[in-house]
Amino acid sequence: MKYDITVIGSGPGGYVAAIRCAQLGFKTALIEKYNTLGGTCLNVGCIPSKALLDSSEHFHNAVHNFKTHGIDIKGGVEVNLKQMIDRKNGVVKMTCDGIDFLMKKNKIDVYKGLGSFVNKNKIKISGEKIEEIDTDKVIIATGSKPSNLPGIEIDKKRVITSTEALSMTEVPKNLVIIGGGVIGLELGSVYARLGAKVSVIEYTSSIIPTMDAALGKELQRVLRKQGFEFFFSHRVKSAKTKGKEVIITADNEKGEEVQFKGDYCLVSVGRKAYTEGLGIENIGLKADERGRIETDAHLQTSVKGIYAIGDVVKGAMLAHKAEEEGVFVAETIAGQQPHINYNLIPGVVYTWPEVAGVGATEEDLKKAGTKYKMGSFPMRALGRARASMDIDGFVKVLADAESDEILGVHMIGPRCADLIAEAVVAMEYKASAEDIARMSHAHPTYTEAMKEACLAATENRALHM
Ligand code: FAD
Ligand code: NAD
Repeated sequence: MKYDITVIGSGPGGYVAAIRCAQLGFKTALIEKYNTLGGTCLNVGCIPSKALLDSSEHFHNAVHNFKTHGIDIKGGVEVNLKQMIDRKNGVVKMTCDGIDFLMKKNKIDVYKGLGSFVNKNKIKISGEKIEEIDTDKVIIATGSKPSNLPGIEIDKKRVITSTEALSMTEVPKNLVIIGGGVIGLELGSVYARLGAKVSVIEYTSSIIPTMDAALGKELQRVLRKQGFEFFFSHRVKSAKTKGKEVIITADNEKGEEVQFKGDYCLVSVGRKAYTEGLGIENIGLKADERGRIETDAHLQTSVKGIYAIGDVVKGAMLAHKAEEEGVFVAETIAGQQPHINYNLIPGVVYTWPEVAGVGATEEDLKKAGTKYKMGSFPMRALGRARASMDIDGFVKVLADAESDEILGVHMIGPRCADLIAEAVVAMEYKASAEDIARMSHAHPTYTEAMKEACLAATENRALHM
């Protein structure tokens, strides 16, 4: 078979790239080494983690909040973890099947097997049978895998990664999490809500260290109330399994050796770009020290006609970033001049309250010496938040001191994962804080916090504070 474009990897980068290529009239092939399409995101990432976050949130509310709402449950509430995991698997299956449907609809040929370069125009596929296809261009979208630390042996039973944490057979009693980033806090939330004692060991001095510092501070306060314990400025040196116990050794901020014990240890210290078995050396490509493939501004590698997108290249490891890059490359190959505004790729943490941010953080602005104004509005001042009892958090708007253009929006509170879209639209159109402050926001909604924070940033004239 001969294709115009072959996409290797079927995650949100790869399958979206394939769809856009097909829409633009290219004869397109998609290669995936696993049996199901959708990559990390659909199979062992975004979708299953959100399914378990939703289920565990229902349980948490039933135990802690129903009574206040006037709902009494006679005989208590219990977790049925098997059912919870089965439902999650059902959601994953439905979502992955949806990608099969989209491939058929767009007449994309799907090959199941490990794709590797024979040369830049020939790809070998090692699946149930071995076959080769010819192609004019290739988009590499092979994603990432969990990283590890020296001294830690991930046995996938007691010392686990996010993948195993999404399919547990019991709720841990003492879950020790190495890394207070997105995965640690999301999956930690799942098991804390289900009754686990959760301890987070973090190398830096705060959680979600790459987001605006105010968000990490507030999230830490709320998660502590949910039972999380945090150990900052700790450098983990080893994690060893002894029967049903895991012993974790770390150096604390004073350089003293300390130990943590748990029945499970989740290692969530980042992810590493993945190119194993892809045979990039056969076309003269090299991965950098973090396994990433280098590209130019058009996401083309040093080999003409070979592009790379998503987690396997530099930048945020996010599904929506991978998707944008998939569309970008397809349109670039078609001779269009697409653009990605990387500054406006939002980051979201799906804890409860949810955390989201876009654009410059306050720390970025200070570092760059930019003169800015800040307006903040607490969720607890909203009627909508009081009605749903989601009063933790705030929206913080950073605007240019002179032009009033919004430079960054950072929020923590109910449904912030969805609320951040307004900030992205506003910033893409270079809105000023006053522009948003003068727009009607439905009452009562959580979105009013965005309007009020913009009012606060404009002339310190929030209405309900
Ligand atoms: P991937 O999704 O990793 O897909 C790569 C695919 O390529 C895989 O299916 C792999 O099997 C295949 N492949 C690799 N090598 C070959 C080969 N040689 N031949 C054939 N196939 C190959 N991001 C968000 O934006 N929001 C979230 O809520 C979110 N939650 C997450 C939760 C967890 C627990 C994890 C682990 C990640 C989460 N992410 C989230 C990150 C997100 O999953 C990734 O950023 C995204 O999947 C990257 O997409 P991708 O297409 O680059 O690669
Ligand atoms: P992360 O980069 O978000 O967090 C890793 C954390 O581990 C950091 O805070 C880091 O300081 C800490 N750490 C590193 N070495 C350490 C050590 N020796 N001891 C203690 N702490 C250490 O990585 P992650 O949480 O593993 O997630 C991986 C990727 O998946 C991220 O890039 C993220 O973007 C993506 N993801 C996104 C979402 C989402 O968008 N909601 C959800 C899950 C995962």
